[in-house]
Amino acid sequence: MPNPPGDEPKDPLTVTPPKKWAAGVPAVVHALEYSLGQTSPWRAGVTLLTMNQVAGIDCPGCAWADPSPGHRHRNEYCENGAKHINDEATTRRVTADFFRRHTVSELGRRSDMWLNHQGRLTEPMVKRPGSDHYEPIGWDDAFGLLSQELISLDSPDEAVFYTSGRAGNEAAFVLQLFARALGTNNLPDCSNMCHESSGFALHQTLGTGKGTVSLHDLHHADLIFLVGQNPGTNHPRQLSALEQAKQNGARIIAVNPLPEAGLLRFKNPQQVNGVLGHGVQIADRFLHIRPGGDLALFQGLNRLLVEAEDTNPGRVLDHDFIRANTSGFEEFSRHARAIDWTDVVTATGLTREEIEKVHDEVLRSRRVIVCWAMGVTQHKHGVPTVREIVNFLMLRGNLGRAGAGACPVRGHSNVQGDRTMGIWEQMPDSFLDALQQEFGFDPPRAHGLDSVNSIRAMREGRIKFFLALAGNFVRAAPDSAVTEEAMRRCRLTAHISTKLNRSHTVCGQTALILPTLGRTERDIQAGGEQFVTVENSMSEVHTSRGRLKPASKLLLSEVAILCRLASRTLSGKADIPWKQFEADYGRIRDYISRIVPGLHDFNRRVARPGGITLPNPVNEGVFPTPQGKALFTCNAWQMPHAPEGHLLLQTLRSHDQWNTIPYSSNDRYRGIHGSRRVVLVNPADLRELGLSEGRHVDLVSVWTDDVERRAEDFVVVPYPTTRGSAAAYYPETNVLVPLDSVAESSNQPTSKGIVVRLEPRRTASQR
Ligand code: SF4
Repeated sequence: MPNPPGDEPKDPLTVTPPKKWAAGVPAVVHALEYSLGQTSPWRAGVTLLTMNQVAGIDCPGCAWADPSPGHRHRNEYCENGAKHINDEATTRRVTADFFRRHTVSELGRRSDMWLNHQGRLTEPMVKRPGSDHYEPIGWDDAFGLLSQELISLDSPDEAVFYTSGRAGNEAAFVLQLFARALGTNNLPDCSNMCHESSGFALHQTLGTGKGTVSLHDLHHADLIFLVGQNPGTNHPRQLSALEQAKQNGARIIAVNPLPEAGLLRFKNPQQVNGVLGHGVQIADRFLHIRPGGDLALFQGLNRLLVEAEDTNPGRVLDHDFIRANTSGFEEFSRHARAIDWTDVVTATGLTREEIEKVHDEVLRSRRVIVCWAMGVTQHKHGVPTVREIVNFLMLRGNLGRAGAGACPVRGHSNVQGDRTMGIWEQMPDSFLDALQQEFGFDPPRAHGLDSVNSIRAMREGRIKFFLALAGNFVRAAPDSAVTEEAMRRCRLTAHISTKLNRSHTVCGQTALILPTLGRTERDIQAGGEQFVTVENSMSEVHTSRGRLKPASKLLLSEVAILCRLASRTLSGKADIPWKQFEADYGRIRDYISRIVPGLHDFNRRVARPGGITLPNPVNEGVFPTPQGKALFTCNAWQMPHAPEGHLLLQTLRSHDQWNTIPYSSNDRYRGIHGSRRVVLVNPADLRELGLSEGRHVDLVSVWTDDVERRAEDFVVVPYPTTRGSAAAYYPETNVLVPLDSVAESSNQPTSKGIVVRLEPRRTASQR
């Protein structure tokens, strides 16, 4: 199935050498250029000067933490954050007239970039059954349509409520409350596709699904691992934290299949050395690992640590920590001793000497942090890999100690907060009991559907109603053709959105666009001006307050949309004060105070500069697993394998992209300009495959079913990927990720480990 063709003007592809450093003056220039292309200097100024400031707008770009109040810079944002916020603050508008001029089918043929560039949605629209046009609909009629559809379902489990991590805490809380009062736990979210493996493994081994470190810990670590992550593009202000860590003497080991610019050197545009000088070297050591080789790397390191303890008893492992806090060490150490070096070397593509050098660094370091992202989680063995990282940290007591710990780096700005608010298809009974006590209804207890299972259920015709709170589900999900077909089987699909995206063009029989306020905009309700709250990757909950005039008078806030829909659908069914919630979000937070552990007295505490840091039991020496201890685990060997003539493909984002939305066809750091339909392959592999630079190929993925998954017309670019692997952009290559290719236990799509072959491009007559 081909991808939707792009229709942005095609510049000829040019390729220059990859950059060896990130940020610097070019980042400032690009950020300003993009911002001023979207909005007026005044609006750009308002957004940028209040962004990530106390009582300002939380950057929707990613979930990286802000420095504590009093330590923030006047410009506390990165290139990508600036682009993203002004992409939302754009002065371009999508009106009813736009939809009169464009059919849904035509919009479906436009590129992601084109759709996004049309601007902000301004009024509710409906596409009725049999029609190929969206037409205006009043809010009241829209709620009537939605609630009628929900009421007519045979079972509440025929509805799915998806949340993207842009949604604030209050909207997320209201959505899960509505879904559960209706009678379903079908609450998939974007976390299912990015860090579900982290949450599952951390929960299983430590009793909490969240990371354990703060910015302060990062600043004071001795050794920091960056595994399967690309901070220069995906969470650029992490580089400032790493710069500070280096100034305090930390060493950094980057582990990645691609030598990304942001892993190598950082030129901080707020420092003289970053503007005029050479900046700061980030990675002291770069491990050019095969995709999916991280489990083997940490198993090799763990074997070395266990053996080093045999040679130097009492001097390598932290026996006090292990004895007091953990369970399963004996079995684990037997397993670690049996790890085979040939397997480790083959899976990682590293030499034993390289791994031994890392081990020496570990021995010299008292405080160690491991940061990781989707390069770890989006593999079949994402869960065991995170468990092995936990083993590694526990061996030397690097949990709960200042300057040490586990740091899963999350992408979407409030993806962690949404989960805290109950957006999860399997919330524990303690949370459901608290809902019952506060609101007097009995929430469903059976687990609901996550993202992959929602698509499967849609495909089988078991889901009739799909509502998305933000996001671009169709483009974020794997197996694009299958997902789109599944979505089209729904009776009604609805999206609460700020901007147009491909999900609006893949419709159920009836489809609704429900336009909403963005983070940048003032939110005035009956009870006065409102703010929302968000939680970053480091469990800090704080406020976000928009400053700009809303893009249209017809916009409603996310909370208002959900409260009105819930009130209409559930009228009299549960004792929930929807009207009061809409009028004053503080009333929602009052309930959250009593339901979510750690958020007591929410309204008062979150109003303080810097907000609230949620307690992390691990840092208090408490491991809330069933055993009451942190668990060592023995993780089965996994070796990612591509048969001869094939490559292991990982999907990735370009530097000029925010999640599913590319802002241009350029990827400045990787030296790709003018096209995104490129596949990056190691020159030696190209020689073996008989392919040359610039050749046009189709990417075809190999899976156990008979379905052909093909991404058409990609240009081959020689690039320093590890041998046997390739890389290409997301979401264009999501079409290659089979829906059933998921990580064990977490059900997360395996977007970093797809077996593909490169075929000569098919001609028009062959298609
Ligand atoms: S690092 Fe993330 S949160 Fe911070 S400004 Fe950049 S995109 Fe926004």
